[in-house]
Amino acid sequence: MDVHNVALTISAVRPAQYPSDALPEIALVGRSNVGKSSLTNTLIQRKAYARTSAQPGKTQTLNFYKVEDALYFVDVPGYGYAKVSQREREKWGQMIETYLTQRETLRGVIQLVDARHAPSEDDITMYNWLQYFDIPVLVVATKADKIARGKWNQAEALIKRELEFNPGSSSFSMFSSMTKAGKDQVWQWIEAHIGA
Ligand code: GDP
Repeated sequence: MDVHNVALTISAVRPAQYPSDALPEIALVGRSNVGKSSLTNTLIQRKAYARTSAQPGKTQTLNFYKVEDALYFVDVPGYGYAKVSQREREKWGQMIETYLTQRETLRGVIQLVDARHAPSEDDITMYNWLQYFDIPVLVVATKADKIARGKWNQAEALIKRELEFNPGSSSFSMFSSMTKAGKDQVWQWIEAHIGA
């Protein structure tokens, strides 16, 4: 998709605040600092619509970005950061669960993991959870430019093994916002899932 027009439509914490125009939605999840803003900016060919997070974990709202009147990207606040209270974590968990389990227009989730490391416990929990709710997932391994091309297969195998990756419901892509590697693959997956 050639993107020219993107707007932050709404920040929401509860269903009454979600957009009501019934466009398909693709949610993005991952721990803080994994490269979620950078991926989003790469997909929409902009330098700074989604600011890269200066304060990891501070954004506690679902942010809906309308792309070309065709779909919404839903930026889900990052998980797995230390500095929030138990109460905030619970609130976060409820907000995410409500959105992911009840949103009829949700077509799939892009789950970001760091290409350089084995998935964290939080990554594994999130992936299992998405499987349980039967939500199509694209696992995107970010910062692929930081590992040699010859090591990509090994990195992919490690991530898939640790996640107990299910190829029936999930896809996988290596990705770099530096080199744009994987950008076309990610867009193809999105387009296939929004019926474009
Ligand atoms: P977010 O917290 O998940 O939104 O992560 P950001 O997009 O803000 O990225 C966190 C940090 O990782 C920033 O310093 C980015 O410049 C860096 N980063 C993100 N994606 C990549 C990538 O593909 N390659 C490299 N080398 N650095 C990246």
